[in-house]
Amino acid sequence: MPILERAWDEVRDLIPGLHRQEGDRLGLFVPDGEDLTIRCYDHRACLFVMYEKDVAICSIQKLHQEGRFDWPKPLSCHLFPIRVRGRRRDQLRYEEFSECAPALALGEAEDVPLVDFLEVPLKRAYGAGVFTELKTRSDAFHETDGEGR
Ligand code: SF4
Repeated sequence: MPILERAWDEVRDLIPGLHRQEGDRLGLFVPDGEDLTIRCYDHRACLFVMYEKDVAICSIQKLHQEGRFDWPKPLSCHLFPIRVRGRRRDQLRYEEFSECAPALALGEAEDVPLVDFLEVPLKRAYGAGVFTELKTRSDAFHETDGEGR
């Protein structure tokens, strides 16, 4: 994961000191089944979390949005709240997470379907063709209020 190690060097001044110390002392990754996952500070916040007032945000994404880092963040984070499962082929599943409730309410109020909210990561993961297919199906679903499945 060299890109995350490079990101770690770049975000050092943004993240809380306790995250920095934990990452330096114990390393950035922990085993997760057959994979590795990013370590969390105190089993709670990802080491790459930073805070603006009381809001937790991704320090990698912040740097990327400011044009200071050339990679948005891990794809699995970028796709959230969609999780990719499946061994032989990808299965995309929505994962309910109570902390996302305000974002869901805003999406509902502004009529932004999840497929549109995730346009950039979906294209990043699967390309424009797959995104267009998903979008077509999503639009048809919304136009018929879910009756046209
Ligand atoms: S988006 Fe991913 S890398 Fe960034 S803070 Fe959240 S869990 Fe960590």
